[in-house]
Amino acid sequence: MADLEFSALVNFYEKIEATSSRLAMTDLLVALFKRTPPEVIDKLVYLTRGTLGPDYAAPELGVAEKLALRAVALALGLGAKEVEAAYKQLGDLGSAAEELMKKRKPASILDFFGGAEAAQSGRPLTVGEVYDALMRIAKAAGPGAQDAKITTLVALLKRAQPKEAKYLLRIVTGKLRLGVADMTILDALAVAFAGSKSARPIIERAYNVHPDLGYIAKVLAEQGLEGVKGIRVTVGVPVKPMLAERLSDPAEILSKLGGACLAEYKYDGERVQAHKKGDEVVLFSRRLENITSHYPDVVEMVREHVRAGEAILEGEIVAINPDTGEMLPFQELMHRRRKYEVEEAMEKYPVSVFLFDLLYVDGESLLDAPLPERRKRLEEVVEEGERFRLARSQIVKSPDELMRFFEEAVAEGCEGVMCKSLERDSIYQMGARGWLWIKFKRDYRYEMTDTVDLVVVGAFYGRGKRAGTYGALLMAAYSPEEDVFKTVCKVGSGFTDEDLAQLPKLLEPYRIDHKHPRVVSRMEADVWFVPAVVLEIIGAEITLSPMHTCALGKLRPDAGLAIRFPRFTGRYRFDKKPEDATTEEELVEMYKRQKKVAVPKAPAGEAA
Ligand code: ATP
Repeated sequence: MADLEFSALVNFYEKIEATSSRLAMTDLLVALFKRTPPEVIDKLVYLTRGTLGPDYAAPELGVAEKLALRAVALALGLGAKEVEAAYKQLGDLGSAAEELMKKRKPASILDFFGGAEAAQSGRPLTVGEVYDALMRIAKAAGPGAQDAKITTLVALLKRAQPKEAKYLLRIVTGKLRLGVADMTILDALAVAFAGSKSARPIIERAYNVHPDLGYIAKVLAEQGLEGVKGIRVTVGVPVKPMLAERLSDPAEILSKLGGACLAEYKYDGERVQAHKKGDEVVLFSRRLENITSHYPDVVEMVREHVRAGEAILEGEIVAINPDTGEMLPFQELMHRRRKYEVEEAMEKYPVSVFLFDLLYVDGESLLDAPLPERRKRLEEVVEEGERFRLARSQIVKSPDELMRFFEEAVAEGCEGVMCKSLERDSIYQMGARGWLWIKFKRDYRYEMTDTVDLVVVGAFYGRGKRAGTYGALLMAAYSPEEDVFKTVCKVGSGFTDEDLAQLPKLLEPYRIDHKHPRVVSRMEADVWFVPAVVLEIIGAEITLSPMHTCALGKLRPDAGLAIRFPRFTGRYRFDKKPEDATTEEELVEMYKRQKKVAVPKAPAGEAA
């Protein structure tokens, strides 16, 4: 098989390290690509990125520095101490090995022809051989894996010239940082195989549906631009996600989107691209990492609730309180990031999935279909369940309508809303941050610093562990002017098992089968109570919400006040009558006096 000497690649690495100009880098890459046989161009591209494959599927090299150090000592016939000393002095194992090797070989006439090592250790290394050996190192598993890794690495080092050893070690320990951006590689591929940068859009599109630079390079080198045009969305290969621009004025958003848009809750969780093929399900993150192992429950949900043989769907995974269904802040998902004990994490930190897009179904790509079509097909394909549903959405046509939907989303625990174009050109713009999607988040949030005392006026039945008791309570503030109780939140957090056991008993004497005449609510509770029991509550902030009746219309037409992420502090205020609860007026004051905290903005155009 045609191959390229590894030394050619290494010479290129040295030149790349010596330049900081992107143009010069592109030129160097073009020259390199042109002399690389198509058979190994994919391997060369991977190595140059310091990996063995595309990010979503590359096996981890994972050679610990200690192990690499031992391999160097063995290959050079030196003591570990000596290698360690050189490493400490130079701060890089690759450079240390290079220096030690140079020292070990007294200059000979052969050096002038660059052949000293090769002459001594056999044939020169090739790119294909190096890649294959590194792959064996990455894949070695089970007992004896360490030995196998060392043996392979030692064999490589023995055949390497000093310079080659330097880069081999950097690659194997994950420290090759040439700073060649993927976009520079795409530019160079365009020039090398299609004649000029003008072919970039075609190549970039292929890269967006199949973000594997090695694969793109190989198709280009072997089949030219026509081959690349034929690259299609493939189940199992993640598509580069579409991103949103940002605005914070509802009128401006609507005018950008042609006067109307589909507003969707912007859930605060982790984006997921789910690929389903029969019973096989793979999950990718926003950065296209394979996150299947973090969410076995989501895998199961996709299997159960997606009515298609093959499909690629997008949605947001959100941490929830299993007993109340309340959404929890994003940080709770961190528990799913650990490698082990996923089963336990699954129980303790359950999640819901909210689907918002369908990119492919049963052989048909929907990438170029407008959003209304994709959304309709999504509704057909997804059979909703308790934890697997479509993102809550609404077509909005006026700034007021958008504002109301936004406030409802925020009060429910979302970050804001996503406003999506419904126009004919509203395709799925892979890998691009464009104006077809506009995120509407808050520039500020507020901080609730004090507790409030609220009256229990209703309750919702619990699920899961809370079956048989209440999952959440509907809480109200008092309005002395009207002598009524107006709702501000649904609280399900902060209750201990003991609280949960005694709540039904405590509330039983006040239970009635209809809403109490002194309670003003827009929500339908499962159970209603005579206002009597007062609980102390704290939340993250007080926000506007169309769902609650406290101060309704006082601060904004058709919006009341709500407490976001409310929690019971543990204090039953038996010393307070319901009329002693925090008043509507006090909540309005608290809302106005809340400390304003800036919400950090991710600069547009930058991947967060
Ligand atoms: P941010 O930091 O604001 O989440 P980002 O740069 O990560 O922004 P953006 O494209 O700007 O990404 O914002 C969209 C993100 O919002 C998506 O990546 C996704 O995780 C999340 N999201 C939540 N709900 C939705 C929804 N209904 N539609 C699209 N994206 C959603």
